Amino acid sequence: MKAQKSTSHALDLSSVSWRKRKRSKLYHSKPTRTEAVGSLFSEDTPVQKGKRTTTATAKPPKRVDDKRQPEKEESKQQMTLHRRLQAELDDEDIERDMRLLRIKFPNMHGLQATVVGTCVKNVSAPMFTAVPEGAKFVQPLNVGDHWITATNVLSDNDNEVQIFDSMFRNINESIVVECTNLLRRHESRDTITFSCRHFAQQTTGTRICGHYAVAAMIALCHGVDVSAHAYDENVLVNELENNVQRGVCEVIDSVPMSAEPEIQRREVWKKWCICHRETGVGSMVMCDGCKNWFHIRCVERRSPKITPFGRWTCPGCTLRKRK
Ligand SMILES: [Zn+2]
Ligand SMILES: [Zn+2]
Repeated sequence: MKAQKSTSHALDLSSVSWRKRKRSKLYHSKPTRTEAVGSLFSEDTPVQKGKRTTTATAKPPKRVDDKRQPEKEESKQQMTLHRRLQAELDDEDIERDMRLLRIKFPNMHGLQATVVGTCVKNVSAPMFTAVPEGAKFVQPLNVGDHWITATNVLSDNDNEVQIFDSMFRNINESIVVECTNLLRRHESRDTITFSCRHFAQQTTGTRICGHYAVAAMIALCHGVDVSAHAYDENVLVNELENNVQRGVCEVIDSVPMSAEPEIQRREVWKKWCICHRETGVGSMVMCDGCKNWFHIRCVERRSPKITPFGRWTCPGCTLRKRK
């Protein structure tokens, strides 16, 4: 099957300058937990200034009090905390949590292996299974070495996607491309309205965005809105580990930061094809396999058999068929 997709742009994309906004100090203004931990370390190990001597009498006198022991214990705990906040979740860790959620919430769409959504600009498009029209989804996404959670469970409008992000408060190209791919059966609209929820910001210097994304994913599957909620990062890491050990997917404790969650909405054009661009840059063709749209000029070199009424499969689907 083949069709021409509309090329008209009815929406003025004021989002362009907003997309180009740099990830500036805005996201790094908070004092970091790592810095706090670092300063504790330096208090424990003061630099000794003075003469070096080799005589036996120059040895420091032995301490008779027990104060040192608790200090050491505290330092150990700080080091453990520091190490755990640097531990990043990978695809397999997130998949383990999703497996439990799929069993508990069989009607929830999304919850797909995150690698399926990963793609390279000008080379590939995401390969998620499409969310049916009228269905709800929760999906963790890997966007530029960072984990976020996307969902549409908090709105009656299926084309509105809520984003829970522990670091940024803007929508980048990867988010649009992966969400377009998930919502490609929602054909009534050429745009997606993103709703960025004011979500707890992870401490700068930590690498626990995956923990935040999983916490949001679990909460949203349970119907719990964690907009404007904050997590104690130590509790977050502990409870998620606890969940895994017990083979459960319980909602992680969090506290609301404000009664009225701050919500930022942006309507953006869906981004298609291996070039990750909007419609309106030439005629498009739909793949009969994955139902994704591609610009003819982007795929005709790799897939020359595009005819007006014949069946056509995209390079990705062709490759999968051959395997
Ligand atoms: Zn293209
Ligand atoms: Zn395809």
